[in-house]
Amino acid sequence: MRRHIVIVGGGFGGTALARALERRLPAGWQITLVSEESYTTFNPLLAEVVGAAVFPEQVVVPIRQMLARCRFVMGRVTAVDRQAGTLRADTLAGALELPFDHLVLAFGTRADLDLVPGLAEHALPLKLVGDAMFIRNRVLQRVARMELESDAQRRRQLGRFVVIGGGFSGVEVAGALADFLRGALRFYPRVSPDEVGVTLLHDGERLLPELPASLGKAAASSLMQRGVDVRLGARAAAVNAAEVQLTGGGGVETATVVCTIGTRANPLVEQLRLPLQRGRIAVAPDLSVPEAPGLWALGDCALVRNAADGSFCPPTAQFAVAQARALAGNLLAAVERRPTCAFGHRSRGTMATTGHLKGVAQVAGLRLSGLPAWLLWRAWYLLLMPTWGRKLRIWVEWTWSMCFSADITHLRFTRTHEVDAEQASPQPAFPALPLSTEEKVHAA
Ligand SMILES: Cc1cc2nc3c(=O)[nH]c(=O)nc-3n(C[C@H](O)[C@H](O)[C@H](O)COP(=O)(O)OP(=O)(O)OC[C@H]3O[C@@H](n4cnc5c(N)ncnc54)[C@H](O)[C@@H]3O)c2cc1C
Repeated sequence: MRRHIVIVGGGFGGTALARALERRLPAGWQITLVSEESYTTFNPLLAEVVGAAVFPEQVVVPIRQMLARCRFVMGRVTAVDRQAGTLRADTLAGALELPFDHLVLAFGTRADLDLVPGLAEHALPLKLVGDAMFIRNRVLQRVARMELESDAQRRRQLGRFVVIGGGFSGVEVAGALADFLRGALRFYPRVSPDEVGVTLLHDGERLLPELPASLGKAAASSLMQRGVDVRLGARAAAVNAAEVQLTGGGGVETATVVCTIGTRANPLVEQLRLPLQRGRIAVAPDLSVPEAPGLWALGDCALVRNAADGSFCPPTAQFAVAQARALAGNLLAAVERRPTCAFGHRSRGTMATTGHLKGVAQVAGLRLSGLPAWLLWRAWYLLLMPTWGRKLRIWVEWTWSMCFSADITHLRFTRTHEVDAEQASPQPAFPALPLSTEEKVHAA
């Protein structure tokens, strides 16, 4: 009888594990990867999608193209019966039950929009490729509305773009947005560059707290040189359709808020009733879930202690992939009844871009900023991208965007029957302020 390893989640961790295992498993074992999307998203490139440096299709990789021998099921796992060793997934064909002998949880985390009042209603999270496309469209929509707006206060709100969070994604998206706006504005002659700007709010004393202080400062000065209004020690207290209010008083008038802070546990964790620490599944050093035989967890959803330095692993793609490789060895050991090993990994470095041709990096003890860091960032992510075809497409796109202006197409995925419905409706097709996520239908 066949035995089964099922992996839930086709992100960095899940796909790296499936790839590392599929050629090494003994006969009689089958790997099944279940994921709610058919692709893996290269999250580090999402800011590039916002800034139109690459197309959305170029930052996702179809899971089926990455796997040679695993079975892939597109579906959302909704329930796990640990006693029976089965899970249920909602798929295109309805509910599907899958048996497992080992179950690996690699389902990442979700964005937490409950951190600040008003965030859920008025802010745009950046977590999925759909979020990146939505933000890009929304930015173009704001500038287009400014062109037609005569009210000074409304123009001010429309022209200000606020990014909350000074970690990697906040810094990268602020830089990408500033560059994108600067490039796009020449096509909007009724909008002056002085009327448009990006504000980055960060509640810490310096940007990029994961990097040495000097690189955090370098990132801030690089962003400020591109005109980004960097506010340190600025914590958002509430968000509404017209401003971000700050703790301690004051606020920033804006109609567009991008949120890069806050994650919460995947809803499946609650159903599994597993021990959580800091909102993540607390795993043993070998990545098994304590007191749950046959269960393992890795990546963002797991809290893993790094045997290399005793610290908890950061929620990054680099650590998710390193954990996947270690877990492949441990699963093989478990299958062959050998002892497992504790996970340990020395970070290869960290990098962030701060806009076009600028970045900061700490790699192999070296601190880099400016163009060398930016080139290193691009070379590294090009190297990581699976398949030569995809690498080539991104390289061509990046080269293209260095020579030509960014694409300012505000693509509306409106279908024929929706246009007909809009025309028949007494509602205006383009609603006026208040500006909120309710405008989804026009920006999506
Ligand atoms: C904007 C942004 C920028 C980032 N930049 C960097 C960076 O520069 N460097 C870096 O190292 N890291 C970066 N990260 C973090 C990095 O992307 C994560 O650490 C990494 O993706 C974690 O991998 P994972 O496999 O644990 O989870 P994920 O990659 O999040 O994958 C989880 C998968 O599980 C699937 N899933 C969830 N629930 C279910 C379910 N119930 N059933 C089936 N499937 C499910 C999801 O669809 C997803 O495919 C960034 C993240 C973001 C959001």
